[in-house]
Amino acid sequence: MKRVLSNATVVTMNPDRDVIEAGGICIENDRILAVGTTAELSSRYPEAEVIDYTDRVIIPGMINTHTHLFQTLLKGLGDDRVLKDWFACMTGPSAVELLPEDCYAAARHGCVESIKSGVTTLLDFMYAHPHPNLTEAVIQAFQETGMRGIVARGFITTGIEQGVPEPLIETIDVALQDARTLIEKYNQPGARVQVGLAPCMIWGVQREDLEKTRQLANELGVLITIHVSETRWEVDYALQRFGMGDLQYMDAIGFLGPDVLAAHCVHCVARDLRIMKLRGVKVSHNPCSNMYLASGFAPIPQMLMAGITVSLACDGPASNNNHNMIHSLKFGALIHKGYHQDATIITAEKILEMATIEGARAIGLEHEIGSIEVGKKADLVVLKYDNFFVNPVHHPISALVYSALGNEPDTVFIDGQIVMQDRTMQTVSETDVMQAAKSAAESLTQRAGTIALRKRPWRSLAP
Ligand SMILES: [Zn+2]
Repeated sequence: MKRVLSNATVVTMNPDRDVIEAGGICIENDRILAVGTTAELSSRYPEAEVIDYTDRVIIPGMINTHTHLFQTLLKGLGDDRVLKDWFACMTGPSAVELLPEDCYAAARHGCVESIKSGVTTLLDFMYAHPHPNLTEAVIQAFQETGMRGIVARGFITTGIEQGVPEPLIETIDVALQDARTLIEKYNQPGARVQVGLAPCMIWGVQREDLEKTRQLANELGVLITIHVSETRWEVDYALQRFGMGDLQYMDAIGFLGPDVLAAHCVHCVARDLRIMKLRGVKVSHNPCSNMYLASGFAPIPQMLMAGITVSLACDGPASNNNHNMIHSLKFGALIHKGYHQDATIITAEKILEMATIEGARAIGLEHEIGSIEVGKKADLVVLKYDNFFVNPVHHPISALVYSALGNEPDTVFIDGQIVMQDRTMQTVSETDVMQAAKSAAESLTQRAGTIALRKRPWRSLAP
């Protein structure tokens, strides 16, 4: 079946970055068949169903390259703490109590939030495995909501001295065997959901674990993602233990390659950037989370100057506190302007590239998604700028990056399937999804003993 989406402003993100006024997109099943003006497409495909998008803007579906969906249940419990304290007091105790039904409820809610803010591809870094089958619960949520993405089977194999709760520690062989089983089951040609590998960070895994992960990734051809230089503490740990920074250590043991997506990279220095460029390592930038946890300012402008692929992400909702990718567009542009006192250092167009075509490149899917081009998957977001906050609109990309709140995505296509129409999910009941997440959050905070964090004292300023 052919459909022509007509009369919209089409922001293609193709190599020429064409923006087509009165534009159209013809889609057939899951693929983009043609892109042009509405007049051209109506005469070429008179038999196609026409969907009129007058006064709408269509962008490629955005790609959020780093989240932890289970944290959807933890919003607001870890406010105003640095990462180590945040993990020890709240995220760790919550993670050890996770059951498959918690992960399922959290991931369904997180996928809906993501779709509502214009995300069509998510990378979930699922590192908490106190019980079996938690990654499968996340995959099920992807499938039911219609989300495309990579669910990276994460693992922690050490780190009790650093505050990792014992139930979160697995042996590498158990973790990688589970990952292998999932990859063999889900990584079928054309599948919307794929499985990758996610060693948590260098203080949570041993050298031998990284080497085994590298071997499995080589054997099965899957993506690896890992937290890198998120905090100053993490880099100092590596310097003390290995005599070099964490990224340099990964390079020294032969772990890095173009299939590695490094999340955060806040404290990377010039030498690290040279290694990333040399090995083809990709970066996931998490501006909201890095400010929320006071981790610092990643050297993103320097990475872009060095020609490193940088994508954009929200991080888990325990350190953000939502999956609103449109917020991340704005924060991602603004923090570098402020930090460098240079308004030109990142533009609205660049941040949208990071959220679309560069995001696709970061996860190895640039030939399939990330731009509106003939032959690519029909992953499209139709934006409706009809609210007071974005009007009057002078430029479609500026309106999205700097004025939008997150309610502007109106209709979302993934794989040619309409998963949201007129702001209403078509694949799942929104009422059921939200209610299930509320109930799961209530139960989890009771079991984890984190309910007291809701009743914190009034703290206008630190003592
Ligand atoms: Zn993370």
